[in-house]
Amino acid sequence: MSTKRLLGIFAHPDDEGGMGGAFLKYGMEGVETGLIVATRGEVGEISDLALATPENLGQVREGEMRAAAEVLKLQHLWFLGYRDSGMAGTPENQDPRSFAQASSADVVSKLVAIIREFRPQVIVTFDETGGYGHPDHIAIYRHTTSAFYAAADAAQYPELGPAHSVAKLYYTSFPRSAIRAMADWMRSQNYQGSFSRLDPEKLGVPDELISVRLDAEPWWETKGRSWSMHRTQMDPNSPMAKLPEDIQRKWRGREYFQLAASRVGPDVPGEDDLFART
Ligand SMILES: [Zn+2]
Repeated sequence: MSTKRLLGIFAHPDDEGGMGGAFLKYGMEGVETGLIVATRGEVGEISDLALATPENLGQVREGEMRAAAEVLKLQHLWFLGYRDSGMAGTPENQDPRSFAQASSADVVSKLVAIIREFRPQVIVTFDETGGYGHPDHIAIYRHTTSAFYAAADAAQYPELGPAHSVAKLYYTSFPRSAIRAMADWMRSQNYQGSFSRLDPEKLGVPDELISVRLDAEPWWETKGRSWSMHRTQMDPNSPMAKLPEDIQRKWRGREYFQLAASRVGPDVPGEDDLFART
C-alpha cells in the first residue's frame, strides 16, 4: 500500500482549526500530514498586548503556528511568506507585499512546487465564502483550486517537477443546519455577542453540499489544545471561549467537508472518509 498524504492549504495561522480533527485522525492512521500557510497573520488582532506588538505579530504567530502544528503532529509546515491583507476595505489590502496583491501566477507556482514534491492524494482549503469572507481566505480558495489543476498538467510549470494528479480537493464548510442549531441554542440561552447577531441563513452552505461529516469527537480536546496555542488570537471574552464544555465538544467534535473536485468519482453518502477510493 502506498503512503497516503493529506495537505491543508490556508491563509493564516489558526485557519487550520476547521480540520484539526482530520489531521489528528488521519495522522494516527499513518497518513503523512502537511500544512501550507500563505501569511504569518501579521495584521490580526492581539488579544493581550503582553504577547506581541503590531511590529512583531507575524513572528509571534509563526511561533504559535509551529506550536499548534506540533500538537496536531503535522509532519510538514510551509509558509509562503506573503503578508496578511487584513479585513476587506482596510488599507492593508493595498500593501504590495500583501497576499491580496500577489499575482495568481506567483502564488500558484509556489503551490504547484509543493504539491509536486509532497504528492498528496487529498488537498483541503477554504470554500468560496472563505468561512466569513476574509479576502485572504477567498484568495487561497481561488489559488488552491487553480493549483489542483495546474499541478496535474505537465505543460504548466515544467521546471517545477513531474506532474502530480491529486485525487480529491475538499473545502472546509459549515452546513447551514449546524449554524442554525448553534443560533437556536444561543437564542435559547439569551446569548449576547457578535456571533449571535449574524444571520444563520447567510452563513455556511446548504447541507446537501457537504459530502464528508468527520467524527472528530475522539480528538476534540487535542484539537482544542492545538487551537489554544494561537494565544494572540484567543480572546477570553469571545463568545466561543465562553461556551459551555458540552457545546464546545459538540461544535468541535464534527468537521464538514465539501468535495470540490475529484478524479476518483463522487463521495458515497455515509462513507465520510476523505481518502475513500484514493
Ligand atoms: Zn484566517
